[in-house]
Amino acid sequence: MQDYLKRILEGFKSYNPTQDTSMIEKAYHFAETAHKGQKRLTGEDFFMHCCEVALILLEHKLDADTICAALLHDTVEDTSTTVADIEKNFNKEIALMVEGLTKIDKLENTSNDEQTMENWRKMLIAVSHDMRIILIKLADRTHNMKTLDALAPKRRIEKAQETINLYAPLAQRLGMFSLKNELEDLSFKYLQPEEYKNLVAGVAKRSESLEKILLSFKENLDKVLVKEQIPHRLLSRVKNYYSIHRKMVKQNISFEQIQDLLGVRIITESKLDCYRALGALHANFKPVSGTFTDYIAMPKMNMYQSIHTTVFYEGQLIEVQIRTEEMHRTCEYGIAAHWRYKLGTKEDPHFDEKLNWIRQWIEWQRDLTAPREFIESFQTDINLSQIFVFTPMGEVKVLPEHATPLDFAYSIHTEIGDHYAGALVNGKMVKMNHELKSGDICTIQTRKNVLPSKQWLEAARTARARSKIKVSLRSRGIDL
Ligand code: MN
Repeated sequence: MQDYLKRILEGFKSYNPTQDTSMIEKAYHFAETAHKGQKRLTGEDFFMHCCEVALILLEHKLDADTICAALLHDTVEDTSTTVADIEKNFNKEIALMVEGLTKIDKLENTSNDEQTMENWRKMLIAVSHDMRIILIKLADRTHNMKTLDALAPKRRIEKAQETINLYAPLAQRLGMFSLKNELEDLSFKYLQPEEYKNLVAGVAKRSESLEKILLSFKENLDKVLVKEQIPHRLLSRVKNYYSIHRKMVKQNISFEQIQDLLGVRIITESKLDCYRALGALHANFKPVSGTFTDYIAMPKMNMYQSIHTTVFYEGQLIEVQIRTEEMHRTCEYGIAAHWRYKLGTKEDPHFDEKLNWIRQWIEWQRDLTAPREFIESFQTDINLSQIFVFTPMGEVKVLPEHATPLDFAYSIHTEIGDHYAGALVNGKMVKMNHELKSGDICTIQTRKNVLPSKQWLEAARTARARSKIKVSLRSRGIDL
């Protein structure tokens, strides 16, 4: 176990070379003593679970308080330690995080469907004041998924299902892509063991020849970028198993037909360099039509930014993502990047926007009383692809797929939504339930005496619009 302490301290020092680590050491010994004698279902010492959770968070370079809370996360739930003990020995922030995690654990240990959904709703409300609780919870779930074999088969499936339906999308929404990929693959392994096994074997078989092509592509690309004097470094990546599987199902194709197993990232300095790199890339390697997306000009809701394109190379398709160093950091660490910046260097300017979606979302949801509706809209909002719709003034609104002019109106302002009288899309009158597309220009007409009716709920697809309509209906005593 001493080895764990060494790894944790070294991990922390790798990105905080000068910071004092005595609090982390103290948390380590405190939790070790508290869990003394406890075993996991796997037969190992329980405390190693706490260390593994801390190590996952260290990979995401989180701050000392979070690492302490990770080490202590199960002490209140599983030992005689109280939240007050933690506050006394450490600090209030750590105590609040452990308290939040204890609440989630209590909620999680019920298995009926309706209850699980209610739990999720409570969890999101409870932890919205400190996102680090969710990050620790995601790390906790990741380690539990790695050791899922210890559970009974029925519980394994339940946990895997919950992970893929809720935790993985949540990680994605928070911009924690590596955690999301890991959670998806771990769940996939239990939910579709045959498909998983076949994919692992297939990827291993193809990867040797693919590696060669990738290497040669990177050499050529490097030459092109050097010639154009574009500062850069190149990274390569292989898709995660679950995303390959999802693509096979969605496009109804076999593994052999999957062509873009490979991906290369160009990391450069400025936004302008990104577009110059794109130009150089397309001028030298044939792009595949219809694969180009510019998430730099139009970032995703989780603040993801990159240019995506796919090119042909030696009979293979290679997906190329182009981004700056700063965009890359945001992609890698997601929301966690904030606590790293907080430690001294600089504030992440997008941090509030990243957090706002979850706060706002929870706010809108207060009006959705049925837990099922809450969870369904959470999954919808989180999973759907997004579209970009413009106001007549050229301001862009990001909406989920299938959104309607009514959703668009509420995304501008509640007053505009509540007095919706009609909409023009690209200059033409459309119905309230018309499905918007990316690039549409939408003009909303309002009238003072118009107020929402029950029928509006059928045209509203976003949580925000639905919740605002319900508020208005209730305020006028209309039964839902
Ligand atoms: Mn735990």
